[in-house]
Amino acid sequence: MEKIRTVSQLRVAPMKEIRIYTNGCTYIVNTEEICSICNLGEGETLAHILLRCPLYRETRVAIAHYTQDHQEERAALKCLLTYDTKEKLKSIYHTLKTILKIRAFIMFE
Ligand SMILES: [Zn+2]
Repeated sequence: MEKIRTVSQLRVAPMKEIRIYTNGCTYIVNTEEICSICNLGEGETLAHILLRCPLYRETRVAIAHYTQDHQEERAALKCLLTYDTKEKLKSIYHTLKTILKIRAFIMFE
């Protein structure tokens, strides 16, 4: 239930802000701000976090097989956010949680 609740927040997230509440913590990502933890100079969008930001490359290994067949980024993102199996939901949940933890650690240390 916690997993479904957490990842489903991604689907309803407005474009300007990604707000994710999980395990008693609220993570807020302003998608209009440039990602401050890498040097790509890109906005911190869901696509940047889940597909491009080099800081999370290792973390994304667990979900890479879902996106590798998609040439287009939108298709890859859409595929990631379509939870058709329990396994997929689980790996996206854990990947997202790890990414948010890394992000919080880097930004607030
Ligand atoms: Zn980045």
